[in-house]
Amino acid sequence: MSSFIELIDVKKSYGSGSTAVRAVDGISFTASRGEWIAIMGPSGSGKTTLLNLLGCLDQATSGALLIDGTDTSQLRRHELVRFRSETVGFVFQQFHLVPHLTALENVMLAQFFHSMTDESEALRALKQVGMEDRASHLPSQLSGGEQQRVAIARALVNDPKIILADEPTGNLDAENQRIVFRLLGELHNQGRTIIMVTHDENAGRLADRRVNLDHGRIKETLVFSAEENQDFDEVLEHLWLRREEETVSPDASAAPSTRHAETMEFTDAQWRRLIATLTGIGLVAVVDGREQFTPAGETRARNVIRRHRLAERLFMDVLSIRDEQEIESSACKFEHILSPDVTDRICTLLGHPGACPHGSPIPVGVCCEEKRVLDPAGVANLLSSIRK
Ligand code: ADP
Ligand code: MG
Repeated sequence: MSSFIELIDVKKSYGSGSTAVRAVDGISFTASRGEWIAIMGPSGSGKTTLLNLLGCLDQATSGALLIDGTDTSQLRRHELVRFRSETVGFVFQQFHLVPHLTALENVMLAQFFHSMTDESEALRALKQVGMEDRASHLPSQLSGGEQQRVAIARALVNDPKIILADEPTGNLDAENQRIVFRLLGELHNQGRTIIMVTHDENAGRLADRRVNLDHGRIKETLVFSAEENQDFDEVLEHLWLRREEETVSPDASAAPSTRHAETMEFTDAQWRRLIATLTGIGLVAVVDGREQFTPAGETRARNVIRRHRLAERLFMDVLSIRDEQEIESSACKFEHILSPDVTDRICTLLGHPGACPHGSPIPVGVCCEEKRVLDPAGVANLLSSIRK
């Protein structure tokens, strides 16, 4: 079966001759239906150009772009407009709402290009983003976060299979970023394919997969699935635990087999392959036959350990779970999914504990250094979001 979205050696240049800018320089990748992909990379690396090609706002200089079996490079201009309005919904960093139209009219504008306008459908879209009460407000009467929610309603009013978002939270504060990511998560749960450009590492972690661009090309080694990233976390966690053991009993370092802790779930071959990959992406270095952290690897390992041990404390102290196995398996899940922000809030809620229930130290975070205290209203909020 062919992929839902397939790019084959797609190139896009601006200008010609020696001054040509190759904004997208030979990109090939596929996306499955319902996948959430984060496109990341430095400014000028071609993210927006790629997204515009995916959304048929622009056509490639060469290469093929197939969406749901349609070769978009073969479509004529008017066919492209129709295809776009039926297939994709756009969310931009700058919202792009028409200033003299109300929220409702802005949403209906998207219907206009698609088919017939339908006010009740437009209201339903506003309701999905929690903005039905503000239907008659002008963009200038709405906050940035609210404007972006209207823009999301506009993107989904035609029930598109694909949502394309170009730095959708680039102009929003932390609270509104959370709201927008939650909405994108809901659209993802509805089975839509989401391709999102972002600078935000945390946002990148929400996605099933990241595609890292550099100078218009994919940095191949950095495209990993969520499962692969979890394996990396497991390996880094192992290395961290091994180092802790060695600090407690230095003799252990003589025995090369200490990595085979009881919980080890990788075969030797898998371990070797993972270490090779982690070395390749600069998280681990092998010195005298022993795996060691690079500074980047150590930071990532510290964060995994911190999430794991804080989760253990949370289950034990707040949720009163006493079953060791349940605590361990829940903590193993949480160590991959907690965002740094939620992690810090849990740490704050628990009063910045120094050790996990088994006595192992919990690495400190920014919240510990700042001695943050949780405001009481935030506690219920946090607990309900964790229980979900
Ligand atoms: P990003 O979104 O990753 O910041 P862009 O896709 O906007 O990157 O841009 C990639 C490259 O293409 C940049 O060097 C940019 O200057 C160039 N570029 C983008 N759009 C145009 C255009 N319309 N005309 C000429 N050059 C462009
Ligand atoms: Mg851009």
